[in-house]
Amino acid sequence: MGKLNRREFLQISVAGTSTALLGWDGIAEAVQGAVQAPFVFPRPVYRTLGRTGMKITVISFGAMLTPEAEVLETAFDHGVNYVDTARVYMGGRNEEIVGRALKGRRDRVYVATKTTGRSGKQVIRDVETSLKMLETDRIDVIQLHSISSRQDRIFNPDIREALLKLRQQGKVRFFGVTSHSNEAEVLHALADDRDRFFDVALVKYNFESDAAATKALARAAGAGVGIVAMKSLAGGYRTDTSGPISPYQAALKWVLKNRHVAAIIPGMRDMAELREDIAVMGMKFGPLDRYILDRYRASIDSVYCRFCGACEAGCPFGVEISTVNRSLMYAEAYREEGLARETYRQLPISSSASVCMDCATCAAKCIHGLDIRAKMERAGKLLG
Ligand code: SF4
Ligand code: SF4
Repeated sequence: MGKLNRREFLQISVAGTSTALLGWDGIAEAVQGAVQAPFVFPRPVYRTLGRTGMKITVISFGAMLTPEAEVLETAFDHGVNYVDTARVYMGGRNEEIVGRALKGRRDRVYVATKTTGRSGKQVIRDVETSLKMLETDRIDVIQLHSISSRQDRIFNPDIREALLKLRQQGKVRFFGVTSHSNEAEVLHALADDRDRFFDVALVKYNFESDAAATKALARAAGAGVGIVAMKSLAGGYRTDTSGPISPYQAALKWVLKNRHVAAIIPGMRDMAELREDIAVMGMKFGPLDRYILDRYRASIDSVYCRFCGACEAGCPFGVEISTVNRSLMYAEAYREEGLARETYRQLPISSSASVCMDCATCAAKCIHGLDIRAKMERAGKLLG
């Protein structure tokens, strides 16, 4: 077992070796052996990003957690050809790091970044700044950041006019949106849009996603929207029940089973995470992956917020519970306090967990049984 590399190990699982036969210890031993084996970068696997026509690697690069350009450079030099960043990450430093890694490689890597602008003027200003930070003359995909409803910026004529102007000037090529919550509604809005204005949707999608999200994703893809998945690890919580086995590869393979998804952009902090994620290219989801994911799911069920927003109508004070929980996840699961604070700070105080401090009883109910009050209190103390 100790001699197996990851790919061979997967072939065993695809062939249907019974997990009961191996037992959890046997599986753990096999995985440890796989991790110790010399790593070989896989051949890149591409899918087409909707109507953009861009062929991008199924494992692309989510740069938000990457402090060193070297990790990005290594990925690009082994064929990864799509990178997603945003100026709000690392207080602007993230785009700078990506820009550094793009030097000498710009023509073989597609760049996606984001704007939080809520008017045409702000969008233009954001794009101009991003171009400078990235040290490039064009952005391949500019995305309206964190859209959570049909009413939120998608059909704003001022923003659309600004984006078209930027495209005419050659500063951006394609338009997109990102969504962490209520993504089904956002995807349907893109599919309904007769102008087919937005070409790309970067959405939360993972093994915890519901049927409504999967259906909306298929509909948007059918309308030509290129789908990129994020938050594919459902938080990436470190859990005791998984022992030495990381559930990450299984989680990524689960997403790629869906042919409507063009790519995933896992966050990769260092070479070890890069190797773990990039290795998934060309792998198939098998029974062992199912087994690993089931164990992982059971262990995160009481802590993982799906950001569905279903509880929010129950809060009489309008707290944005899903965004507070996302910030908390960045702090507790990602262990990225800076990112947690940046995300939390984007909330107006009147929708943040500060409101909960003066609330006697929590009236909001989680459809997945999470203890909302406890999460709000933790977030308020940690991030408030
Ligand atoms: S504790 Fe009160 S203010 Fe906070 S989410 Fe619950 S109902 Fe809303
Ligand atoms: S707390 Fe529960 S209901 Fe509210 S957004 Fe999270 S998963 Fe959905």
